[in-house]
Amino acid sequence: MRLSRYFLPVLKETPSEAQIVSHRLMLRAGMIKQSSAGIYSWLPMGYKVLKRIEQIVHEEQQRAGHIPMLMPTLQPADLWRESGRYDAYGPEMLRIRDRHERDMLYGPTNEEMITDIFRAHVNSYKDLPLTLYHIQWKFRDEVRPRFGVMRGREFYMKDGYNFDLTKEAALHAYNRHLVTYLRTYERMGLQAIPMRADSGPIGGDNTHEFLVLADTGESEVFYDSEITDLKFGDRDIDYDSVEECQGVLEEFTSRYARTDETHDEAEFAAIPEERRRTARGIEVGQIFYFGTKYSDALGAKVVNDNQEQVPVHMGSHGIGVSRLVGAIIEASHDDKGIIWPEGVTPFHCGIVNLKQGDDEADAACEQLYSALTARGLDPLYDDRKERAGGKFATMDLIGLPWRITVGPRGLKNGVVELTSRKSGESVELTPEAAVARIA
Ligand code: ATP
Ligand code: MG
Ligand code: MG
Ligand code: MG
Repeated sequence: MRLSRYFLPVLKETPSEAQIVSHRLMLRAGMIKQSSAGIYSWLPMGYKVLKRIEQIVHEEQQRAGHIPMLMPTLQPADLWRESGRYDAYGPEMLRIRDRHERDMLYGPTNEEMITDIFRAHVNSYKDLPLTLYHIQWKFRDEVRPRFGVMRGREFYMKDGYNFDLTKEAALHAYNRHLVTYLRTYERMGLQAIPMRADSGPIGGDNTHEFLVLADTGESEVFYDSEITDLKFGDRDIDYDSVEECQGVLEEFTSRYARTDETHDEAEFAAIPEERRRTARGIEVGQIFYFGTKYSDALGAKVVNDNQEQVPVHMGSHGIGVSRLVGAIIEASHDDKGIIWPEGVTPFHCGIVNLKQGDDEADAACEQLYSALTARGLDPLYDDRKERAGGKFATMDLIGLPWRITVGPRGLKNGVVELTSRKSGESVELTPEAAVARIA
């Protein structure tokens, strides 16, 4: 992409309404624009990051055999009356009436709808196990929408639902989701710690939240510092293996790590003092096992191998896709701007032409642009007639992992400058070597 033809409405001033750094930087970098409280347009660069995060979520779900689909945002109230949640959900639910006076709602989650789909089409234990998921906009009329996309009213969420014959099988699905989440967050350059949580209005007794540690997080968390040494890495895992998935759960939940809802002072005090940590965290996902709560309420049953009708065991598993954009920035920025992890960066590198209009500099930039594109990379070429200082400031603000700086002086010696956004280190090398380093 050439910056002169892109739409990147960078702000010079720091917007006063933004209280936390990720919100400020997303506004300044022209990623989002608020349309009303907690509702945002995703401008081109914000949209790109959102799509990259979404793609990682899809890949990791499908790696584990989970099946993508898409349910609507608007749901009939009657389904929620069946589960009893139409009244129980309260003012967070946005209720709508259509022209025929039918009660509808903008879905805050999809347990009822997926269970309705299941009961319409699945009758036999032979069709289990089954995990379906979608990535769709949700609406929750939050009392205090704030922090930009971190606590929006309309937000983008992956929610997946497992259907299993037995509790044991459903717990395997739970563990399998835990593994997929560990991989998902690590690919985004994040450490998200599974913490024992409270099940809240969804119900059930088995649940973990995934928290990214950050001072601006809304949850208070308590943990044993040893938990932060654990990395999933690039281990190969058989998602069908009950033992392997259980092993990962045991490893990643072997140290004390809880949100304030389930915090236990006595247990916490048993950890050696130097390892006890109290901090704040951003909830970027949650997994639940809730047994037959919805299958009982909505009559989602299958025939087992004794020809008996039994309710299926279920769980639901969410990832805050749009919240993650903010969470990643909270975890990765400096005073100049965003520092995108490679896995989610909107462009792989920036090209800064120090002397736009200089034949040699222009040609070198064009060549770099084609060479990077030919390797399947997506560069952002700042081809505007601007001062070098302004171009550098924009690049630092938008936080691409690499910057290639091209100017007549370097070109005389056959070199360009390659700068890492993260370390700030620069090296001079030939254009070919710079491309090879990025690829
Ligand atoms: P929170 O405690 O932050 O209100 P939640 O526990 O109500 O979140 P879940 O029902 O667990 O949310 O939904 C799954 C994920 O969706 C959450 O882990 C979070 O990452 C994301 N999410 C929930 N509410 C919002 C929101 N208002 N804005 C953006 N993302 C959200
Ligand atoms: Mg909530
Ligand atoms: Mg929560
Ligand atoms: Mg939650």
